[in-house]
Amino acid sequence: MRLRNIPGAEAALREYPTFVDSPLSYKGRWKERFGNDHPIHVEIGCGKGRFINTLAKRHPDTNFIAVELKAEVVLRALQRTEYETIPNLAFIQFDASKISELFADHEIARIYLNFSDPWPKARHAKRRLTYASFLNNYRQVLTQDGEIHMKTDNEKLFEFSLNQFAAERFQMKNITFDLHQSKLAEENVMTEYEERFSSRGQRIYRVEASCLI
Ligand code: SAM
Repeated sequence: MRLRNIPGAEAALREYPTFVDSPLSYKGRWKERFGNDHPIHVEIGCGKGRFINTLAKRHPDTNFIAVELKAEVVLRALQRTEYETIPNLAFIQFDASKISELFADHEIARIYLNFSDPWPKARHAKRRLTYASFLNNYRQVLTQDGEIHMKTDNEKLFEFSLNQFAAERFQMKNITFDLHQSKLAEENVMTEYEERFSSRGQRIYRVEASCLI
């Protein structure tokens, strides 16, 4: 997601009650941050945060953590909440390639990957958020029956991801090559990118992959 650099973005983040400034200190202790034992769902690359804000309000018995690489993008997401405190939602600025530094083994129940950067060049394949090394890190932090829910408009990234899930022995279900025309459409929560791509008539691909085999 391209946003112009916002001077002072990192300092501004700390003004927001849903922003977690030192996330590594919560490794293995995220339930203390939320004050309950509810399952934790994580969105990697939350962008402007519409998806996770909607889910958090809709599911108060689940804790949600939005992970985003860029400070200015996290700030945009937080500005949307206008200092509203959503008790089951936390935002962090973090690089998901180091996710096992953020969560203890089996600490989280679900990962959402929504419209992840496709990195189309073959030499950049290792940067894709569904590359084998990422999947193995996710497996480590996910519960035994944990799931990864992925959606994208990019057919090649989708095909690549299905192959990576299969090669890394994830079990796949609810695969659709046209989400908005499928039975899953009714409960689907749109992201900003999804809104943009689907309004241009592009199909949305989606899969759920679980660690259980
Ligand atoms: N999920 C949002 C949506 O669907 O509207 C945003 C999609 S945007 C194409 C991808 C986002 O992932 C960007 O905001 C980018 O900064 C973030 N991102 C990319 N690599 C990341 C990483 N390693 N860790 C965390 N976020 C990452």
